[in-house]
Amino acid sequence: MRAAFVLGLAFASIIASIPLPADADAGSLTGKVIALDAGHGGADSGASGFGLLEKDVNLDTVLRARDLLEQDGATVVLTRGCDCTVTLAERVAIANAALADRFVSVHANACGCGPANGTETYYWSGLAATSTSAHLAGALQGQLLQLLGTRDRGVKTADLYTLHHTSMSAAHVELGFLDNATDNAKLADPAMRQQAARAILFGLQEHFGIAPHDPVVGFAVSVLQPADQAWAKGNVAARGAANQASLHWMRFLVDGSVERWVTPAPHAWTWDTASFADGARVLRVEAENATGVRGSSDITVNVDNTPPVTTPSVTGARGANGWFLGDVNAHLEAMDAGIGVAQTELAVDGATLAPGVDATLGGDGMHSLAFRSTDQLGNAEALQGVDVAIDSTPPGLALLQPAEGTLYAGGLALLPGLPATVVAGEMAVCVDAWDATSGIDRVELRVDGALRGMGIAGCLPWRAGDEALGPHDLSVVAFDVAGNAAEQHQQVVTVPTTTTGVMATLDGLGPP
Ligand SMILES: [Zn+2]
Repeated sequence: MRAAFVLGLAFASIIASIPLPADADAGSLTGKVIALDAGHGGADSGASGFGLLEKDVNLDTVLRARDLLEQDGATVVLTRGCDCTVTLAERVAIANAALADRFVSVHANACGCGPANGTETYYWSGLAATSTSAHLAGALQGQLLQLLGTRDRGVKTADLYTLHHTSMSAAHVELGFLDNATDNAKLADPAMRQQAARAILFGLQEHFGIAPHDPVVGFAVSVLQPADQAWAKGNVAARGAANQASLHWMRFLVDGSVERWVTPAPHAWTWDTASFADGARVLRVEAENATGVRGSSDITVNVDNTPPVTTPSVTGARGANGWFLGDVNAHLEAMDAGIGVAQTELAVDGATLAPGVDATLGGDGMHSLAFRSTDQLGNAEALQGVDVAIDSTPPGLALLQPAEGTLYAGGLALLPGLPATVVAGEMAVCVDAWDATSGIDRVELRVDGALRGMGIAGCLPWRAGDEALGPHDLSVVAFDVAGNAAEQHQQVVTVPTTTTGVMATLDGLGPP
């Protein structure tokens, strides 16, 4: 025994991280179903002496024993809980139907023979002295003698109906003799009947291999921290408590899994909730007291280690290539699957973050909107950003050539006497175009609204000889990358390719 005990200590630190086996409740009557049978009752008073009725002594003792057994974890079934008549067959039926583990019948004696006194306990005469019922009877008898201080009349056998017909091991105690003055004085004393009840508890404990002990009344385990239904993120200070100083152990469980043993005190644990999924987690504190009784308390903790997600939407006049053509309104929507969004912050163009969900980005150029949301636990989203490009200004455009009033004589060699504004051959239409923000995308050359050529800037060739004779609207249209446009118009006249024709056309147009 001693060697085994020392070995056990050596391994204590190793097994401390392993959940105890399920039979660790062996230190109490937890799980046991005990049928208590108060003899007689109702019309049947049983024995009597000095005005004391057996049925009353039996019932009071049984009710006291019931309380003690239940406090030690047992489930108790009473064959009668009132001053009422119950037949022996009914008593047996109640115990058998409850599938009780043990049956204990409580009686008191009388013989009318004067000097008889003392305590005796019976088991069924059909059983051996090595039977479980005999063992139970012996344990009860020994504890009764010790606590009542009565004379030992021994463990006996009898073919009593209840002992015979109950399907579980059973014993029948006779507490003492009501018609004996000494025994009667004891059984008339509530304090002594409490001792008789304790003896029944102790006897059952002894019978089940448990050191006899008073039940620890009101053994309560609680979770002091965090509060039930609390929200939690990151590391959470968890604390358990029991209303007794002496504990075998205390431990924390999350969702039924043992996470930490906190024996000895302090019964505290820093719970890293981030290693558990978001959502409702059951935090349990379990403890076992010095007599092997267990208690536990559960709370629900709502774990949320996830920040909100913010989605931006930007609205405004959209141009080409992702550019906006004017002010842009930005709106932020934040969603949080856990405790909820506390606030959304934003900043335009590098300013300091400030609470808000709406912003206007205005003015030509590149803009940035930075934002993030934080939930009510302080889980902050990483800084998000969206870029917005605005160009609301059309390009600058200058038509450099041809000059106003230019005539075109397609393919004609320059002749002496013609005005300098008459151009021969292929004409170059030259423009200057510029755009400060998105840049020039293209310049289009149009004649009477029809596209004739395209370029970026500089000079575009125009074969005017392909056009019909007469005046035409020559236009250049510059587009910036954002899609803004600027245009300029010039009237040109195409003329016949002979000197005569040129002169005639010039006459027709009047002096240049
Ligand atoms: Zn009786």
